Formats: sequence, C-alpha cells, structure tokens
Amino acid sequence: MKALVLTEYNKFEIQEVPITATQPDEVLVKVKAVGICGSDVHGMDGSTGRRIPPVIMGHEASGIIEKTGASVTGWQVGDRVTFDSTIYRLDDWYSRKGLYNLSDNRMVLGVSCNEFKRDGAFAEYITVPQHILYKIPDNVSFEYAAMVEPIGVALHAINLTQISVNDTAVVGAPE
Ligand SMILES: [Zn+2]
Repeated sequence: MKALVLTEYNKFEIQEVPITATQPDEVLVKVKAVGICGSDVHGMDGSTGRRIPPVIMGHEASGIIEKTGASVTGWQVGDRVTFDSTIYRLDDWYSRKGLYNLSDNRMVLGVSCNEFKRDGAFAEYITVPQHILYKIPDNVSFEYAAMVEPIGVALHAINLTQISVNDTAVVGAPE
C-alpha cells in the first residue's frame, strides 16, 4: 500500500509499504479521511519526542472495513467506521474504570516514542482492534467522522473533570 512516511524530522516521503497483518481481534480499514492534529505538527519536527522517525502519522481517521480478523464479531466488511486514537487493553484496572487513556501498555495510533511505535492512518489501510471502533451513521461524512477524535478528547476531558477533581492532572489529549 502507499503510505506517507515521516522518514526524518520535517521530511515526508510517499512509500510503498506492506499492509500490516490483521490480528484475530482486528479489522483492516481502508482509510477514507484523516485529520492532521496539532500533536502531529508539534511531533513531526521532533519537539515532542512522540513522532520518532520512521513513522506513519495520523490518529483521527475514518474509513470502510475491508477485512475482519477471525474472532471479530459485530463488524462486517463494508461497515463505515471511525475509531479511538488510543489502543487500550480491556482487562486492566484503568480500563475497567473507563479511564482508557491511562490503561497499561496503551498505544496511540500514529505515534512513535521510546515506549512504543504504532503506525497511523496517513496510509491506504490501517489495522485496529475491534473494541476501539465506532460505526458512522449513514448521514455523516467520512471527513466529519474523522473529526470525532478531537471532539471526543475534549468531551472526555470534561467528563473526567466532572468525575473526580483529583484526576484533572490526566486531562488532555492522549497523544
Ligand atoms: Zn489528536
């Protein structure tokens, strides 16, 4: 597939790269729209340490399911979807409390840092686990759906503030 790869800080190249294998609990999404986040702008020049090259950026996106892993249920080829920017585990303490952006070993799509690297959606395809998917209603465009993540971050921040004032230190964009 074609992908826009950050090959070094402030330098992008369109490259032919292999499509990541779809794990049993993942789906392969054909990307239709992807946003550029402020964190991408501040990451591509090396200032945040969150886009260590080489990496395919892009964590707010939408598309169509092209393929489903063997254990995927409830999602079908052809579904229009968007997804969380953060891939979190379902079975840890934080996730069980709904604090997904704090879960252990979480990864953010399109981020490459010292702890992890997970290629993002500046590409023709992306694989994501089924539990971070959201269906896009028929009357919502792919472009609009790609904007759900930044809105979600803002709403999540508001929710956390309301749940517990002590947790305000964790409020903010996960990436
Ligand atoms: Zn973002």
